[in-house]
Amino acid sequence: MRYATLMWRRSGLPELFFAQQRALHSSRILSSEEGLKCDGAKIEKNQEECDVAIVGGGMVGLALASSLSSMPLTKHLRVAVIDDSPFLASKGYLKRDQMPDSRVSTVTPATINLFKEIGAWEHVLHQRHAFFDQMQVWDYTGLGYTRYNARDVGREYLGCVVENKVLCNSLLLSLQKKEGFENKICPTRLASMTLPSEVNHSKFAKLNLTDGGTLHAKLVVGADGSKSRVREAAGIKTTGWNYPQSAIICTVEHSSQNHCAWQRFLPAGPIALLPIGDNYSNIVWTMSPDQATQHKSMDKDKFVNSVNHALNNGYGPHPESSSLSNLLDSITGTAMSTKEKFEVPPRVLGVVSNIMAFPLGLKHANNYAVKNIVLVGDAAHTVHPLAGQGVNLGFGDVSDLARVLAEGVSVGADISQLTLLKKYERQRKTANIPMMAVLDGFQRVYSVDFWPLNILRATGFHAAQYIPPLKKNIISYAMGDQKFPLFS
Ligand SMILES: Cc1cc2nc3c(=O)[nH]c(=O)nc-3n(C[C@H](O)[C@H](O)[C@H](O)COP(=O)(O)OP(=O)(O)OC[C@H]3O[C@@H](n4cnc5c(N)ncnc54)[C@H](O)[C@@H]3O)c2cc1C
Repeated sequence: MRYATLMWRRSGLPELFFAQQRALHSSRILSSEEGLKCDGAKIEKNQEECDVAIVGGGMVGLALASSLSSMPLTKHLRVAVIDDSPFLASKGYLKRDQMPDSRVSTVTPATINLFKEIGAWEHVLHQRHAFFDQMQVWDYTGLGYTRYNARDVGREYLGCVVENKVLCNSLLLSLQKKEGFENKICPTRLASMTLPSEVNHSKFAKLNLTDGGTLHAKLVVGADGSKSRVREAAGIKTTGWNYPQSAIICTVEHSSQNHCAWQRFLPAGPIALLPIGDNYSNIVWTMSPDQATQHKSMDKDKFVNSVNHALNNGYGPHPESSSLSNLLDSITGTAMSTKEKFEVPPRVLGVVSNIMAFPLGLKHANNYAVKNIVLVGDAAHTVHPLAGQGVNLGFGDVSDLARVLAEGVSVGADISQLTLLKKYERQRKTANIPMMAVLDGFQRVYSVDFWPLNILRATGFHAAQYIPPLKKNIISYAMGDQKFPLFS
């Protein structure tokens, strides 16, 4: 194996933990102090052993590693992150003089809280990011619009747009700074996996790695994205479909800083303009795969014209404020963003990155957990990017899985036990499935250009703009609160 022998730190374990470990027997989790001796497990040449093998060191895998290393009850666990991305070898902050990367995520306040808990948010704040407190969503027909403001829910911001590489870098730095926890990044990939069985008399899954090494793990976490090898090797089936759409993404420049998130629904799909700091914004534009191919190879000036046409002067008129505003205001007396008028988004002056295209689809793993295996992030669910929820759902998985594992540890359960892992699955399906249904519904409703439906959509925009309780609930839900967006 190319990486050095796993060296688990043998000091700094809380006394409480030693007491728990002494009280437990063969079914217990290996502690870093005792792990190499108990359960009869031996480390042979070129074979390593750990408690949790996280396959995939993307945003979600790193967040899980950092989360497990932060919590008193789980920080003793021997965690290995398997991914050969060269990025994982980096140290220190990314250089800010580079143009913003076109892969960004809109992170919700719920995600920000997770990052704060694990000590990663301070690193995001040192690098490029853009909080936004306003959002405007409208329809190309000019029949309706909705403006959201963080004030509506008594918050300072609705979310923050951060480059994915900044999120990964911040999580990596938080991991590197953990005391009492020796985390190991294994720069290789999973090739195949053998699950423990009666036949092989093992409690460990065996991971065969592409560098020829093997790793034995009590629990294998599939954080390896939508084409998850772990999911496939565990025989977990998925349900889903491809959308007849692709998303193109790129970084664009304005003459001044943008502080609002803008999204306009066009006949072929939505275009979003998201602030990313300085005078830059990120474009996420959904269109047919043919249109995406054309736009990708377009001359940059022509592309900029096409973006401004899509965001502002093309397709249809700007929506007007409704007299419903005054009526509802007199009934509810609530002066929130219901009074805010439609605004024209800032003009795009140039494209400063490559234009990338991604095919879009919905995919959901039928099970998130089988014995010894658990899925998180895109390995468990992939959604349409129209509401910027994908990785936020993944970070929700991380919070819940880390908490469930900590609960298991506290009662001396085996972390690979199916009943424990199924608890995580239940919690996450309850959160993820309704969000996936909402996003899929939006995708369908906004991909049809049929006038009765256009009127219905406009009614939806009016309801979201002018009915304060509905508006508040939509904002809270999109910000990561678990409540479904209905009146409360
Ligand atoms: C156009 C677009 C815009 C988006 N915008 C947003 C947004 O604004 N907000 C939001 O919340 N979400 C957004 N998303 C979704 C978000 O990007 C994904 O949800 C997120 O990247 C999933 O993270 P992940 O860590 O689960 O998987 P990935 O990012 O796919 O990471 C998987 C990791 O696993 C590694 N890996 C794969 N196979 C193996 C293997 N065999 N062995 C070892 N390692 C392996 C890979 O190298 C990679 O590092 C968007 C998606 C798209 C396509």
